[in-house]
Amino acid sequence: MKTALVCGAGGFIGSHLVSKLKKEGYWVRGADLKRPQFGETTADDFVVGDLTDPRIVEKVIDKPFDEVYQLAADMGGAGYIFSGEHDADVMHNSATINLNVARRSVESKVKKLFYSSSACIYPERNQLDPDNPNCVEDSAYPAAPDSEYGWEKLFSERMYMSYQRNYGLNVRIARFHNIFGPQGTWEGGKEKAPAAMCRKVAESKSGEIEVWGDGKQTRTFLYVDECLEGVRRLMDSDFMGPVNIGSVEMVSINQLAEMVMEIAKKPLKIKHIDGPLGVRGRSSDNHLIKEELGWEPHLKLEDGLRSTYEWIAAQVKAKES
Ligand code: NAD
Repeated sequence: MKTALVCGAGGFIGSHLVSKLKKEGYWVRGADLKRPQFGETTADDFVVGDLTDPRIVEKVIDKPFDEVYQLAADMGGAGYIFSGEHDADVMHNSATINLNVARRSVESKVKKLFYSSSACIYPERNQLDPDNPNCVEDSAYPAAPDSEYGWEKLFSERMYMSYQRNYGLNVRIARFHNIFGPQGTWEGGKEKAPAAMCRKVAESKSGEIEVWGDGKQTRTFLYVDECLEGVRRLMDSDFMGPVNIGSVEMVSINQLAEMVMEIAKKPLKIKHIDGPLGVRGRSSDNHLIKEELGWEPHLKLEDGLRSTYEWIAAQVKAKES
């Protein structure tokens, strides 16, 4: 039986990944500061602990796992990572986790390690035009991410690649582009745009919803199941990355809001307010993933939004009753 460790298994993508690996027949250990918020973990073993502490990481990576998935990070939506108020913690905590995990994976002779980087590493200069953002993998340099979160991701990508060169750590790196789906954070300030939009629409009783900025900034959003399909395919390939895992179905935030209203059958007015925005336009570029893995995501945004809205609307209803 193959063994896997999922760091960040209490989080959104990590908890879905644990379920996927279990279905594929792996023995899985999860590790996180907390257990999953929505439903019990399916991991065989779950360590609640702080991965910034090397003693915990020693305990967690105590054998030559076939696969380690490093998803733990101090992160959140735009409200958390672009406000500037959490920069020191974001950089310190996430870099420390990655430094600990890389070193300990070599010591324990881990066979393969996956690292989740982010579209936030791409330079702002290529994302000023909402209709033509450029996120080809090699456009990452000269580096100029627009957030400290992005800088930390770039540092950690390089750190894992150094471990590959100097210590033979077999790494795979993907840059995720806005992953969403059921059982993700949907309130409290760390939620991403799709979840925030679903919540606002489900909660609205005033006939309107608030949207940060002019709503003309563009993004693509990828459903969590497809993200994990990409991760597993990358792990099974010989390609190290970094490679984008994202969608190319670009929508403005206003269009995203309209889509959710249509799914909810709830037409509302959009009120634009000040708020943290990030870059003007961002889309995945999928040429490299198609070339290397012969695959790219294909699920329509609307289909992913439908199941996400249903789940969030049920959460809102449960909270209100
Ligand atoms: P998430 O916040 O739900 O999961 C991250 C998990 O890491 C959390 O459960 C958190 O408790 C855990 N964690 C944080 N600090 C820790 C510590 N010191 N010790 C142990 N655990 C700790 O986020 P997610 O959306 O599931 O993202 C997973 C990974 O994918 C992250 O590395 C994130 O940067 C990356 N990513 C996500 C997206 C996205 O759209 N969701 C996009 C780009 C990259």
